[in-house]
Amino acid sequence: MTAYMDHKDLANEVIDQARAQEIADGVHKVLDGIAQAEAAAGREAGSVKLLAATKTRDVGEIMAAIDAGIHMIGENRPQEIVVKAPGLTRLLAERGIALGVGGDDAVAADGAAVTDHIPFHLIGQLQSNKIGKVLPVVNTIESVDSIELAEKIARRATMHGMTVGVLLEVNESGEESKSGCAPSHAIDLAKRIGAMGGLELQGLMTIGAHVDDERVIRAGFAHLRRTRDQILASGAEGTANCKELSMGMTQDMAYAIEEGSTIVRVGTAIFGARAFI
Ligand SMILES: *Cc1c(COP(=O)(O)O)cnc(C)c1O
Repeated sequence: MTAYMDHKDLANEVIDQARAQEIADGVHKVLDGIAQAEAAAGREAGSVKLLAATKTRDVGEIMAAIDAGIHMIGENRPQEIVVKAPGLTRLLAERGIALGVGGDDAVAADGAAVTDHIPFHLIGQLQSNKIGKVLPVVNTIESVDSIELAEKIARRATMHGMTVGVLLEVNESGEESKSGCAPSHAIDLAKRIGAMGGLELQGLMTIGAHVDDERVIRAGFAHLRRTRDQILASGAEGTANCKELSMGMTQDMAYAIEEGSTIVRVGTAIFGARAFI
């Protein structure tokens, strides 16, 4: 168990009104920022999806974000998914909303059909011994960066008779601290992953360069986009749905949107600074 989880009860469901308001304000501010960046880039309104990065946030905080307009969430650690998913699933069912993989055959608390669905993504590194923990919950694993990991996920998914979405994570900045495959391998890996049963290759993901130079950050995002376009143009088996570009966080969201992002992953600008990392 990770140490920070001893300091905060992530299954907590009750937060005070002031905190809920703070989170709602954060959601609205980020949604406004996305709309502005879409307009500035000449992109269609609503073409960029907002994923709330919910690591270190408890169930009550996440529900406040959803009630304020969040439609997609992402967690970094399988342990956090395990702790939060039951509470989130129950509270969402009360609102007629299904969570993650539960969306396929979910029924609301009062027996009515669910009317909405919150996709659940894994955005952090996945060790192969944790695949079984996340598969029953998450729709998409954004952090697939090797054939070995893809094969293990594919094997598990096939065993369960399911198909899980994957994004290929690419280390565009080349920073050693970051996971992700080398940009030069991305197209080859994408084609091989696309051909695997049990997986649906839905796109590419990257974390922006940790530098101040706007041009460097943008160049990484632009390269990811060109890579995605080349994969789509290849016509290779299983690559026709490789459309998503998950790129952009609190600091570099506007650049990412101008470079073609379809999913921005935002934590700090919604929930405030993290007390734990
Ligand atoms: C934490 C995290 C984010 C969100 O970061 P913020 O800077 O808090 O917006 C996005 N993507 C990944 C993979 C993360 O781990």
